[in-house]
Amino acid sequence: MDYVILDLEWNSAYSRSVHRFLNEIIEFGAVKVDGDFNPVGEFSQLIAPRVKKRLSGRVKELTHLTNEAVAEGGDFLTVSRAFTDFVDGATVMTWGTTDIHTLIENYRFYTNDGHIPFLHSYCDLQEYCERAINQYDEGNQIGLGRFAGIIGVEFSEEEQHRAAADAYLSLKCLKKVMNGYPLESCVQKADCEEFYERLLFKNYFITDITSPDIDRKEMTFNCDVCGSPAKRVKKWHIRNRSFCADFYCAKCGRRFTGRVSFKKRYDSVTVNKRVTEKPDNTEKQNNMKSQIKP
Ligand SMILES: [Zn+2]
Repeated sequence: MDYVILDLEWNSAYSRSVHRFLNEIIEFGAVKVDGDFNPVGEFSQLIAPRVKKRLSGRVKELTHLTNEAVAEGGDFLTVSRAFTDFVDGATVMTWGTTDIHTLIENYRFYTNDGHIPFLHSYCDLQEYCERAINQYDEGNQIGLGRFAGIIGVEFSEEEQHRAAADAYLSLKCLKKVMNGYPLESCVQKADCEEFYERLLFKNYFITDITSPDIDRKEMTFNCDVCGSPAKRVKKWHIRNRSFCADFYCAKCGRRFTGRVSFKKRYDSVTVNKRVTEKPDNTEKQNNMKSQIKP
């Protein structure tokens, strides 16, 4: 089984024809490895931008590319066809899914079809590597440079942020952490609609109490002091994307606020429940009074 580690560079451009910003891909860089993760091929090609021929200062600084250099590159579809031949059915890996989103955006722009022709099976290397060191956290993604620092892989900042160099650095990181954690668990089939639906699905908090995705059993609370079932004494209301209501425990007299949120994902709902102190009205009034005093 071969793998291709891909890294892209892009430049943000405003397209007058579609009236929106587009991250125009200006470089494909990749390294192909065999089943033992030894390099067997390399791909590095620049793409001449079509929408915006001038690179932003930030991109120039980061990549050391010049307007003149990228102007010599091929056009997007020619380079992507050459890259499809290079991949030749191998599993494609990228550090995080941003490159995949950018590819979809570019294919949509150039062909009106957001499917990526070289993507048959896919692995998000960032997720895999974070899982392999037990630091996977959806809300706190670790950039490639920082990850290399964490696991002690040396690299030169100067050479980074060119596509092929980043692909090689990803490979080094992968090789360093891949003991024991199954890579197959992070490889997914990508030549199907489900891959795109899952990737493009935007998670959101459910705020409609009548939504069928809400499990009403999660909206009951036990007293956090004595453990008895508590009674809801006020209506549910929404606060910070959570449902909140006041509860009362008849057994011990405890009053508290129960909060529960439901995060809708592509194929699941994540529930987060917590008990917070009910704001004490008299205390609040006292605080207000003391603030008014000079
Ligand atoms: Zn109680």
